[in-house]
Amino acid sequence: MIKKIEHIGIAVKDLKSAIEFYEKALGMKCYKIEEVESQKVKTAFFKVGETKIELLEGTEPESPIIKFINGKGEGIHHIAYLVDDVQNTLNDLKAKGLRLIDERPRKGTEGFNIAFVHPSSTGGVLIELCEETK
Ligand code: ZN
Repeated sequence: MIKKIEHIGIAVKDLKSAIEFYEKALGMKCYKIEEVESQKVKTAFFKVGETKIELLEGTEPESPIIKFINGKGEGIHHIAYLVDDVQNTLNDLKAKGLRLIDERPRKGTEGFNIAFVHPSSTGGVLIELCEETK
């Protein structure tokens, strides 16, 4: 059902200085910056072998990323798993009693359909499900 870790999402206060850290200290290269207005986030992507790092900066005070940082500080925000079919996976997880944030897939970054599963039913980890749409 789960094919691989598509990316790891990391909440940052300042995208520009975070990109600088990943590029200068870790030698990674940011290949894309994308703003998702509906989610009130600006994201930066880095390829790491088969997976990616997604840095997320909130763009408005009520952004979920800013709320997350206010509560827990900067750091790992979510793990994104690649699946064949997000809706099927959501149905399956719901049937197993997990609490979903999204009942239906929606458009995410990188042309994926995505949905989130609530950390209260996954041992504290916000899970993102991703499905390729091509
Ligand atoms: Zn993500």
